[in-house]
Order: sequence, then structure tokens, then C-alpha cells
Amino acid sequence: MSGKRIDITSKEELEILFNKCLAYYDNDDDKYMALALLVSDRSKDPRNQVGAVIASASGELLVYGYNGATMGVSDDDFPWDSTGEKTGDIMHNKDYFVVHAEMNAIINYLKTNRNGTLKDATMYVTWCPCNNCAKVIAQTGIKRIIYHRMYSKPEQITPNLFIFEKAGIECVPYSPYYEITKEDQMFQRSCIKSKLLKK
Ligand SMILES: [Zn+2]
Repeated sequence: MSGKRIDITSKEELEILFNKCLAYYDNDDDKYMALALLVSDRSKDPRNQVGAVIASASGELLVYGYNGATMGVSDDDFPWDSTGEKTGDIMHNKDYFVVHAEMNAIINYLKTNRNGTLKDATMYVTWCPCNNCAKVIAQTGIKRIIYHRMYSKPEQITPNLFIFEKAGIECVPYSPYYEITKEDQMFQRSCIKSKLLKK
């Protein structure tokens, strides 16, 4: 099993893979989760790369996002090391600065579709959404979330699932589901990419 990180550095390369991916898979869940995994590789976060893809109710690709720095801050200058979590140095704690993949996808959509709506859309995301993202997702009208990996602590899960349940949002693991480790995810991503590159 390969733990090698794939580096999709250019948007053009990602778009070529996207088009191959759209042609390769014959069902939306596989197709869009594969895209979300590809998108996650664009994140510069060394510890947790996350990708999110939103598809319309009719299965059309709407937008994607990955976790990254805020506007004006270069991904390369960003304090990804997160040493501040232990030392208390807030300027070296990415939690204060990073925009999550789900939020970036939603913002990217709204920025380019002023009269558009995410009502009844599906979000495919490589990690189950955190609490802040859950609150924003509930406000968009997104009706279904398919996630690839799940957090382990109840406080990272329970309030979010409560929000989704009350908003009538279905939040389900990507199927076929098994305990997906970080190594599995990297392996899966490298398989997706090598399959697509061969086509
Ligand atoms: Zn989040």
C-alpha cells in the first residue's frame, strides 16, 4: 500500500483529471467522491487534506473546495505546522486561519452564482463536516451529505448529526463503507489518479 502523497499542483491538471473521472465512473456517488478525493490533494495541509464537491439534485457538478488559507494569505506562507496547538502560540495554530473545504465550496458557489441555490444538492466530502461547517451547510438547503471518513470523538460528531437531523439533511458514509485509515485514503487517491492517467 502506497502512502505517497499525490501533488495536484495546477488547476489545469485537476480539471483534466476531473473530466476523465466524470467519464470513468457510472454512478454519481463514486464519481463525486473520487472528485472530492482528487480535490483534497490540492490542499497544502500536511496533516489533513480535505476535499468537498457539491452536485445538484439532478446530479450536475456545481462546485468544489478544499481546506486552505484565507484570501491574501499564500498557502506557502501559512502556518500549517500547527505547533501552536501545544505551545499556545495562536499565530502557529491553523485552526484560527484555515477555511474548511465545505465552507470554501459553498462560498465558491455563492460567489459565482448570485441567484443560484444549493437547495436539495448533495455534498461529497472526504471528512464528515465539523460543527462550524455543519451549521453553514444547514443554512444552504443542501439535503444530502456523503462523507468518506468520520471523526472519533462524540463532541466532534453528535452536535453535527443533531443539526443535520433537524434540518432534514441525510448524512451517510460513502458506501461500501469500511474503517478508512489515512493510508487507505492515500492509497485510494493514488489508485484513482493512476487509473485516470492510464485512460
Ligand atoms: Zn469544517
